[in-house]
Amino acid sequence: MKKYIFLSTLILFLFSKNTIAQISHIHCGKVYTMEDKNPLTEVTIVVENDKIIDIKNGYSDENDTIKTIDLKDKVVIPGLMDMHVHIESQSSPNRYLERFTKEEADVALRATQYCERTLMAGFTIVRDLGGSGVNVSLRNAINQGFIKGPKIFTSEKSLATTGGHADPTNGMRDELKGDPGPAEGVINSVEDAYKAVRQRYKNGADVIKITATGGVLSLAKDGSGPQFTVEEIKAVVAAAKDYGMITAAHAHGVEGMKRAVIGGIHSIEHGTYMNEEVMDLMIENGTYLVPTISAGKFTAKMAEKPGYYPKIIIPKILAVSPKIQATFAAAYKKGVKIAFGTDSGVSFHGDNADEFGYMVEAGMPAYEAIYAATMSAADLLNITDEYGSIKVGKYADIIAVDSDPTEDIAQLKSVKFVMRHGVVYKNEE
Ligand SMILES: [Zn+2]
Repeated sequence: MKKYIFLSTLILFLFSKNTIAQISHIHCGKVYTMEDKNPLTEVTIVVENDKIIDIKNGYSDENDTIKTIDLKDKVVIPGLMDMHVHIESQSSPNRYLERFTKEEADVALRATQYCERTLMAGFTIVRDLGGSGVNVSLRNAINQGFIKGPKIFTSEKSLATTGGHADPTNGMRDELKGDPGPAEGVINSVEDAYKAVRQRYKNGADVIKITATGGVLSLAKDGSGPQFTVEEIKAVVAAAKDYGMITAAHAHGVEGMKRAVIGGIHSIEHGTYMNEEVMDLMIENGTYLVPTISAGKFTAKMAEKPGYYPKIIIPKILAVSPKIQATFAAAYKKGVKIAFGTDSGVSFHGDNADEFGYMVEAGMPAYEAIYAATMSAADLLNITDEYGSIKVGKYADIIAVDSDPTEDIAQLKSVKFVMRHGVVYKNEE
């Protein structure tokens, strides 16, 4: 009998431990939910485990069973989302050599720091647009709670055509160049496109990235010409759709951008030489622009340091970098949908919020810049049911700053509070 009572008590204890919900009450002085342009004032956000279950007027009473978080003197917004990062690496003069000197484990261990810095900067979700495959492991490690970081939607390896921007063997000597093929993300036909997308699916990618034109930082002369046919792009998009994956296209030149938009790509990255015709096409097709002004600013600055970049890419930086911000301004004015993205990795991880300043400087109101990094980003990722705003039923991805970021966008560069999925990662005075 005694044994029975002991056992049943133990079972009850274990059971209750697993089912008792963790409740937090967040007392917020001011909240931009991003569901409404007008902020809420003096409210309590109730979080149960990882979700928001209530938003009440006024501050709830404090008691012993509920954890209370005091953000009464802060301004609260949803966790930020960056739609263009390369989470596993970061700019350095050694970047090109490191392909030959770093083990995968070295890359992964160092990248844990990039993940943490990104989260601590207030970014609770990122879309990773290309790496070696370590990005998939980083995503898994974060999901399993082994390391701190944002939720990652990764493309694993980017897709390119032979010699294209994401051909991993660009710039190598002939015996190393080989013919990488679809398994490595290099395609040269409709059939290859399907094979490459399916390989990404098999490798654990969440989204698909193509390099529709040449790029600045690859060891190749051309930075803007088209590198895919429309048929290849249509095949990539169709194959991705089969697996519920959205698609992104790196693009600088007009022809490559046109083909990408016509091919059904969901977002154009950078968009440097975008003209009115492309903007109209994007509006017609509902294609997002992810501006990455930060990449332009960062590379232009670093190109002044002798030896920081290989010589072959300097003329491309000088041509492309200064144009990105003005293109963003024109596209925004014209009515192209904008989702926030920095290309962090090309610049430093953790400095993602610099992009907000560049967007506002180019004429976008601060509230809309924040919207681009919350609701619009969630819309691009097809996750508005669960993320993108502070709303009952959505995940508790919540950050806070000292004063109103719609009046002073630079506030977002010093985020004081970070909660992701109901867990507090940062809470500074
Ligand atoms: Zn990129």
